[in-house]
Amino acid sequence: TPTVGVLALQGDTAEHLRVLGDLGVPAEPVLAPEDLDRVDGVVLPGGESTTMSKLAARYGLLEPLRKHIDGGMPAYGTCAGMILLADRILDGAAEQETVGGLDMTVRRNAFGRQSDSFEAGIDIDGIGGAPFEAVFIRAPWVESVGDRVRVLGQTPYGERAGRIVAVRQGGLLATSFHPELTGDPRIHRFFVDMVKGQV
Ligand code: GLN
Repeated sequence: TPTVGVLALQGDTAEHLRVLGDLGVPAEPVLAPEDLDRVDGVVLPGGESTTMSKLAARYGLLEPLRKHIDGGMPAYGTCAGMILLADRILDGAAEQETVGGLDMTVRRNAFGRQSDSFEAGIDIDGIGGAPFEAVFIRAPWVESVGDRVRVLGQTPYGERAGRIVAVRQGGLLATSFHPELTGDPRIHRFFVDMVKGQV
């Protein structure tokens, strides 16, 4: 079984560690560059992406994260974590830095003020069973993707229909929503299978 790290600078790190622990996957907080040498994959949690990238820079984690991800370390970003994995962001704060790796443009806080928070059932490619009950909290959407990016899920109905909210590019996975908050472990299990090289 691989060990999965969860970036522990800010945001809902504890919830990710809990889901992984419930799946029987050894999971460790990542707070320092050395921590990345001990894990086989890394989760970037939800929270506040500008704060997280500032802290990542301050803790000397931004470059090591880029290096590991460039070197093929699988990573899964939820919400703010999705923003961190994006090569390009719209509506970012001035000089907002990302880790990057995923060839996509992500729009921060895209779903707008009236719908800062909502739930929707999302069909995720590669995840069997019922639609995933997804919770969106001041969530980004994916505005556009490069050729190598596979769209795994889009919003299903209403004004927000057809927005890209789940993507994968090789070992990199990102969702606009927060599976760590809802107790449905299917996407974490999928990520662990990615880390194992099984999917
Ligand atoms: N709106 C946040 C940001 O831009 C993300 C929100 C979240 O992770 N729930 O960083």
